[in-house]
Amino acid sequence: MERVIGIDLGTTNSCVAIVEDGVPTVIPNRGGYKTTPSMVAVTEAGKRLVGHIAKRQAITNAENTVYAAKRLIGRKWSSPQVKNAVLTASYKIIEGPHGDVRIQLRDKTYSVPEISAMVLQEMKVCAEDYLSEPVSKAVVTVPAYFNDTQRQATKDAGQIAGLDVIRIVNEPTAAALAYGFGKTMEKTIAVFDLGGGTFDISVLEIGAGGVFKVIATAGDTFLGGEDFDARIIDWLVQGFKDQHGVDLRQDRMALQRLKDAAEKAKCELSTVTETEINLPFIISSGRNEALHLQRVLTRSTLESLCEDLVERCIEICKQTLEDARLDRDEVEDVVLVGGMTRMPRVQDSVKEFFGREPSKGVHPDEVVALGAAVQGSALVDETKQMILLDVTPHALGIMTFGSNFEELIPQNTTVPTARSKIFTTSRDRQTAVKILVMQGEHQKATENELLGEFILTGLRSAPKGQVEIEVTFEINSDGIVSVSAKDLENGQQQSIQVTASSGLTKEEVGRMMEDAKEYMVERQSSDEFEGLKQEAEKLIGDIERMFPQVEQIVASSDFGRDAIGKARGIVEKARAAIVKRDSAAVKEHMESLARTHRMFKGVVSRPHG
Ligand code: AMP
Repeated sequence: MERVIGIDLGTTNSCVAIVEDGVPTVIPNRGGYKTTPSMVAVTEAGKRLVGHIAKRQAITNAENTVYAAKRLIGRKWSSPQVKNAVLTASYKIIEGPHGDVRIQLRDKTYSVPEISAMVLQEMKVCAEDYLSEPVSKAVVTVPAYFNDTQRQATKDAGQIAGLDVIRIVNEPTAAALAYGFGKTMEKTIAVFDLGGGTFDISVLEIGAGGVFKVIATAGDTFLGGEDFDARIIDWLVQGFKDQHGVDLRQDRMALQRLKDAAEKAKCELSTVTETEINLPFIISSGRNEALHLQRVLTRSTLESLCEDLVERCIEICKQTLEDARLDRDEVEDVVLVGGMTRMPRVQDSVKEFFGREPSKGVHPDEVVALGAAVQGSALVDETKQMILLDVTPHALGIMTFGSNFEELIPQNTTVPTARSKIFTTSRDRQTAVKILVMQGEHQKATENELLGEFILTGLRSAPKGQVEIEVTFEINSDGIVSVSAKDLENGQQQSIQVTASSGLTKEEVGRMMEDAKEYMVERQSSDEFEGLKQEAEKLIGDIERMFPQVEQIVASSDFGRDAIGKARGIVEKARAAIVKRDSAAVKEHMESLARTHRMFKGVVSRPHG
């Protein structure tokens, strides 16, 4: 029987799993890690890097390193989210030919599905290495709140990566599948998923005989760990301004260092109650002296900085329970998913709201991929008794006269589903109607998302309101929508599957698949150590070139001499590891090298008296 892998394609990290001998198992990547950063880079020599190796060189190659592509997938160039990303991302985001989004890396532009495909391909290769056989089928997860366009774009990404995505599953649903796997129970559970970029909450009923029914789902595609990091950055920037009168935001390199330090501090504060943020030579003052940032952040300060973010998650939970017509105490277990749920304040708020301790049985970083693998194996193995009843996260309908939104499928309807409604012409002798297919919850159609449009022609010429047109919406198990319209009298019919909406045409997807194939041959044959060695040597070379200049600038202070001494030690250790061809040790020193590199760059790039 063909194996199906389950892939959690995350904003920050991705994870791949498989059901092996009946047991869902996470597949480690070649570095031995169970999750892989969803990062992609192109080096000066035109080489593609994916995962940890891309992350390690992100600071020194920021313009050509893509992170959080999931925030852009399936979005239109004109959307506020893309506008925001254009301003804040370190890489270049440009408008594509179909009003979609493209990313410029060196001299080439890539569609967002193409970038995500590189991550998916990496996961595919990890699985193939692990299983020692080719893998072509996958179940890929998406946030429950992803709309049709985002789902389609994710499928396109799979296709470009050479994967047949046999099902798109909502992340919280996948988490519930992993949670309920192998247990016989009847339970109502909530899955609370707070990751790097998105928040999702779903309420599910797990029934006898392996039935998983989603009752309600909601979320916010712009609420996640990065927003917590941003609060810490604001706090650091403001404090620095008050102390030194210098705005750190003017300096891209300083900002990048702040970003890293903020995330690190946030993660540390999940286990300790205070941490020191220490960034030497972060910027120079107007009087050409190097300034250092040194501040203690306590857990309680972090909590007060982020209080409203946690509150927003809880508000969405409240709304979701209302939609599900459930009281809090009817939820019998709460499953936590996503890296941010390690934050004690998040756990406490969840516990307070649901009035119970969240489930400890699942690993927040792995549970989604495990669930995807469970679903994958059930789809190809008929002996597996499992029925998954998911719901549509958005209402679907059409625009009617006066820009009103007429709903055909309400939010939280179990899929697959089909619904029809009869409409009439709005003018005399009207022989054609335009069907605008929309998704959203607003009464005003213009506030909702346009998924696609088509025209039904050849209607009988008659007075206004006398021609009846039946519009039918169908949603399949991937949450992908098709729509048809029919003149009830003469049987004339038109339909669309809302597919080309990811911004890519069929031809483009085909061409990108070819490109990806070529690349794969290259990637599979490359030696991991060689890649690492090149990265490390580049950093060492840069650091060494900067040594004389940095020494001159900072040697007058104890702090500076100390930093120089440490830097020399780091370079020596890394060198020794390269000589020994010890991949693990080189990897270990890489972060220190990158940190030193950043610091040196910061020192030499500023004017000094
Ligand atoms: P995910 O998308 O599920 O991989 O979650 C990634 C997010 O979780 C990022 O914003 C991380 O900074 C955050 N995260 C990871 N570990 C921790 C931790 N120990 N405490 C707080 N946040 C964390």
